[in-house]
Amino acid sequence: NLEQGPEGPETPIQVVLRVRPMSAAELRRGEQSVLHCSGTRTLQVSPPGGGPDVAFRFGAVLDGARTQEDVFRACGVRRLGDLALRGFSCTVFAFGQTGSGKTYTLTGPPPQGEGVPVPPSLAGITQRTFAWLLDRVQHLGAPVTLHASYLEIYNEQVRDLLSLGAPRPLPVRWNKTRGFYVEHLRVVEFGSLGALMELLQMGLSRRRSSAHTMNQASSRSHALLTIYISHQTVSQMPPVDPGEPPAGGKLCFVDLAGSEKVAATGSRGELVIEANSINRSLLALGHCISLLLDPQRKQNHIPFRDSKLTKLLADSLGGRGVTLMVACVSPSAQCLPETLSTLRYASRAQ
Ligand code: ADP
Ligand code: MG
Repeated sequence: NLEQGPEGPETPIQVVLRVRPMSAAELRRGEQSVLHCSGTRTLQVSPPGGGPDVAFRFGAVLDGARTQEDVFRACGVRRLGDLALRGFSCTVFAFGQTGSGKTYTLTGPPPQGEGVPVPPSLAGITQRTFAWLLDRVQHLGAPVTLHASYLEIYNEQVRDLLSLGAPRPLPVRWNKTRGFYVEHLRVVEFGSLGALMELLQMGLSRRRSSAHTMNQASSRSHALLTIYISHQTVSQMPPVDPGEPPAGGKLCFVDLAGSEKVAATGSRGELVIEANSINRSLLALGHCISLLLDPQRKQNHIPFRDSKLTKLLADSLGGRGVTLMVACVSPSAQCLPETLSTLRYASRAQ
């Protein structure tokens, strides 16, 4: 049942798999599709050499025919939103190699040109959740205050995508009440869907322009958009440190850097440093997840401090958190090695 979100036992991390359609370029090159869904929860991989099929099971599996609305429903983001309204830290992250559809899934396709709006039917999980959340808040008539922040982690440096001046690297701090947070991060209060969409567009266009000048930096950075939900009685307490968000629930959307290996990108010099810090944080994330899933785990031994990414996701992954992972893959045979590593990473997370 798509409306219910991923089924299965209550696990800390729900995993949804999305297979994007074959791209025009893949079709032109005559590449074969090696993935097909069987039922709503199983993905079959047919190795091109003709070996036996390999099956992977996830909370939900969505093929290339599924729309953005189908994906939003299958992800059960409404449940996450309700938990965030009740004070939980909820995270949706997109994982997969560059070109697998992470950004498309979270925020839709880029605009086709200056001033050409993206059709609402192509809006991603993020915009759909925004619309749902603001509607929900209005419907509940709850006195809540909403704030947003949007940052990028590039080479283990945090960059504010909403900063008013030129962005400079910001430190990640920790304190007992709030856990990890980014100091001096611009956290903007908003009251309408329009205002929130503007913040999203500002961050997205900064990501895109840096991708232009920094050689596709956007596929090598993690982008974290966070909505902070505070019930007014709580938010009247002044923040303790500059840039510290108000206490309450959180809803975070994470567009992770491409998961492809250094070897696959043929990187040299500077790019190797980038690929290493991507791999380091994705490895740290995978490591934290596997320790969290270990029934023998001791809460205080989760190495969240191993990367900025895991620090900033710590409250969603552990403690009062709920995490949804959307693993994205290409159906093409040419991508199969990376697809298999994405499928294994995603399987281990559930
Ligand atoms: P990533 O963020 O993982 O690098 P993108 O989201 O940029 O990948 O997707 C790569 C390309 O494929 C983009 O041109 C995007 O618009 C297109 N694309 C991705 N997923 C879909 C989909 N489900 N339907 C149609 N086009 C898609
Ligand atoms: Mg992307």
